[in-house]
Amino acid sequence: MKVTLKNSNSLFLLFLFLSFGCKPATENTFEPLSVDQLAQAQETFKEPGIKNRRFKHADLQPLIEKHKDAFEVNVLGESVEGRTISSLDWGSGQTKVMLWSQMHGNESTATMSLFDLFNFLKASGDEYDDLRELLKTSLSIKFIPLINPDGAEQFKRRNALDIDLNRDAISQISPEAVILKNARDTFEPEFGFNLHDQQIYYNVGNTPKQATISVLAPAYNEAREINEVRRRAMQTIVGMNEVLQQVIPGQVGQYDDSFEPRAFGDNIQKWGTSTILIESGGYLGDPDKQYIRQLNFMIILNALHQIATQGYTNYTEEQYFAIPDNSIQLVDLIIHELQVPVGDKYYPVDLAIRRRDSSAGESYYERGTVDDLGDMQVYFGMEEVDATGHKLKIGEIFPQEFENVSAINEAEALELLKQGYLAVKVKSFEAGELHQLPILVLGEKDDFDSGWQTGSNPNFFLEKDGRNAFAVVNGYLINLNEPTEQTFMQRVY
Ligand SMILES: [Zn+2]
Repeated sequence: MKVTLKNSNSLFLLFLFLSFGCKPATENTFEPLSVDQLAQAQETFKEPGIKNRRFKHADLQPLIEKHKDAFEVNVLGESVEGRTISSLDWGSGQTKVMLWSQMHGNESTATMSLFDLFNFLKASGDEYDDLRELLKTSLSIKFIPLINPDGAEQFKRRNALDIDLNRDAISQISPEAVILKNARDTFEPEFGFNLHDQQIYYNVGNTPKQATISVLAPAYNEAREINEVRRRAMQTIVGMNEVLQQVIPGQVGQYDDSFEPRAFGDNIQKWGTSTILIESGGYLGDPDKQYIRQLNFMIILNALHQIATQGYTNYTEEQYFAIPDNSIQLVDLIIHELQVPVGDKYYPVDLAIRRRDSSAGESYYERGTVDDLGDMQVYFGMEEVDATGHKLKIGEIFPQEFENVSAINEAEALELLKQGYLAVKVKSFEAGELHQLPILVLGEKDDFDSGWQTGSNPNFFLEKDGRNAFAVVNGYLINLNEPTEQTFMQRVY
């Protein structure tokens, strides 16, 4: 039979009808995973080799090694101190997506999630096979899980040159910045994910709700204009926010979109990659951010699905702008109306206290600071206490020395607090030794700071009717009548 051009077109149309008409829902439009499925997937594929957020470059190398069977692993270069920076590539689809994490060395939450995601992507034989197939055939994904290994080594923000890599996108003084820029320029992704952590003191809008996740489609110019590149990032964020609102309602904020000409997110947006910033904040009862690790996994997987199906086109920039702005009004503790002594008078003040953490090996300790005092109505305390009628009273050091930290337990420490002692001394201790006692432990120091003014370390009692009702130890509030369960991350001084 002579097949004319017309006939062959008809055959082709018939073929189209058969392949799409019979299956009106093609593989590319199936429903995204539900919130429960996303959470379940993370629990199933959580990387057991990363137990806390203070891991280092050396901890990740065997994990990267084990993924060589399913990912194309490349060493992109080395950090200032000679640590390798690797990328893991997965998928063979048309749309390119690049994700990079931890350009700030102490912002490791998303890095943990990426390793959970690696386990997820390379698995098979379960309910997620359709999704994997969709992602694999639609996307080519490049992961760069630790841009600043030297910073991670000391769990600090900056690299070994003491440069903030997120201010080095243009000058590229740091080898790490060169590596990230080269990766973008050679790969030319359509979508980019810039993965960070923010301070735990961010709240959402003017509410006391902690901003557990903040999102941003960074501006690419001073005027903060919106082009197609930036709009796609905004749209995708709306879908991610839909997931988050189901699990952490009211706890998603929009990060400040002022243009920073030196930052990577802003410039990568400018260079034509639809860029999404995820900032992991705090969540009550999750100091090690393991729940936030799960949330990152969930929204990244959701976003990849949106990009693979172009599901983000269902959303608008108006929906993006409806996400409330971040602000930074949270403090750990507000003590209201405490009577503080000056001269021979007492003045009622509100004290706003934050406890910042410092790394110590695998662990950390906190140091309380009075950040502000007076009228504190613009702040929200994660814990607040009404100290009306209470006077600030300085505590004593227990006169008998203990052999070492192990010679005193929590119950004894509480008993000493009730007797008016805020500190004990130990004869022997290791430099920088940590403890979890609800009292100050002094080694070499003969005294402790006892201030209530800004910048001081808050250690004192709240006294009412001649009795100590509360102790404030290094910024931790302890109700002496009804002590509650809490974790004290402290250091011997
Ligand atoms: Zn950061």
